[in-house]
Amino acid sequence: MKTRETKPVIFLFTFPLQGHLNPNFQLANILFNRGFSITVIHTEFNSPNTSDFPHFTFVSIPDGLSESEANYTDVIDLLHVLNSKCVAPFGDCLKRLLSEEPTSACVIVDALWYFTYDLTEKFGIPRIINRTVNLSAFVAFSKFHVLREKGYLSLQESHADSPVPELPCLRMKDLPWFQTEDPRSGDKLQRGVMKSLKSSSGIVFNVIEDLETEQLKESLKAFPVPMFCIGPFHRRVAASSNSLLTQDMTCLSWLDKQEPRSVIYASLGSIASIDESEFLEIAWGLRNSEQPFLWVVRPGSIKGTEWIEILPKGFIESLEGKGKIVKWAPQIEVLAHRATGGFLTHCGWNSTIESICEAVPMICKPSFGDQRVNARYISDVWKIGLHLENKTERLVIENAVRTLLTSSQGEEIRKRIMPMKETAEKCLKLGGSSYRNLESLIAYILSF
Ligand code: UDP
Repeated sequence: MKTRETKPVIFLFTFPLQGHLNPNFQLANILFNRGFSITVIHTEFNSPNTSDFPHFTFVSIPDGLSESEANYTDVIDLLHVLNSKCVAPFGDCLKRLLSEEPTSACVIVDALWYFTYDLTEKFGIPRIINRTVNLSAFVAFSKFHVLREKGYLSLQESHADSPVPELPCLRMKDLPWFQTEDPRSGDKLQRGVMKSLKSSSGIVFNVIEDLETEQLKESLKAFPVPMFCIGPFHRRVAASSNSLLTQDMTCLSWLDKQEPRSVIYASLGSIASIDESEFLEIAWGLRNSEQPFLWVVRPGSIKGTEWIEILPKGFIESLEGKGKIVKWAPQIEVLAHRATGGFLTHCGWNSTIESICEAVPMICKPSFGDQRVNARYISDVWKIGLHLENKTERLVIENAVRTLLTSSQGEEIRKRIMPMKETAEKCLKLGGSSYRNLESLIAYILSF
């Protein structure tokens, strides 16, 4: 291994979606704390708050998105547009940076920038990928072409509960599915990401190896490139704000007034949307559970409405302070609060790992992509949550909340998530899997 007096520069090309900005910036901070200089390359769309990271150098590239393209109506379409419009601006930018910075070590790209597959060939710089899903979902995605060939993806409704022979933990309805008008668009994304992963110099995961050892073996078989499981990222670095929406900090003072482990926190992440009837069923389910609830309703996340104006008149008053609805929350602090007892979640991987780290059991309401795989692992494999099984009905939600927060079954679930939290803590300590894997990643980067 080469030794250097000063650590080299890493260029990190972050992807402009909240669930990617968070782990991308956490990884950047982890590497900065180990002495690397970090230059963040980002798009103008959803550009990060650069003033929150004075220790990084930022370079913005023009993404050329039109106003009508810059929205989440069809996220897969948005990913393709970004991948095609950023080819030239990113290439120009990297060329310039490489000529100015001779000590650069590598480029780290979010996996969704699949157009970067031939970067090493073009620019002669190693390319490491930050893949922001867990290994169980990664394995499911890696079999996507087989699942498509065998016709399973079209069985998701008619044979929803049939097991998937190639992925024994999953049912047909759990297969990663993309929220897009055109199914070929999902296939194109999958092919692009697979090609890009295969030609990479390595893949970094925000996962805990000890929880997914078999899946790591399978992943290495499918992609024979070095893999580094160094999660949970957010536990390695001080909290920093990459929020595209303003976090409503009054959540915390409201939680201070609630009994320990009494509150159900509900949030469906930064992209998923629901229709009006689902929204109203969730509202009544939460209210009828008679447990206090803190509910994040992102503006625009209910189709056809601005925010919560469709709640029946008098609904909020009828809660008598037992429920709080906000537009965006400081989620990590909310999950860590002693009053939070359960999480009604869409099961995005960041939300899932954040919940595991605080030993908060979950109620799963997945929408698309890896969320469905995560939900099945949460409910049936790790048994640390309940699955709504696509039944967004008030009574089902009411019962799930009561079961999780007030029954002996809920207590059993809580007992099972505790050791996972402990594993998440231990893996970061001297000799733990994430500790060792981060050392290997650093040595690997320094060997370029
Ligand atoms: N998040 C937040 N406030 C909220 C809801 C979510 O800060 O009110 C953060 C959450 O902590 C997580 C990210 O947004 O880090 C969402 O990522 P995830 O992978 O769970 O879902 P996605 O938004 O990508 O669907």
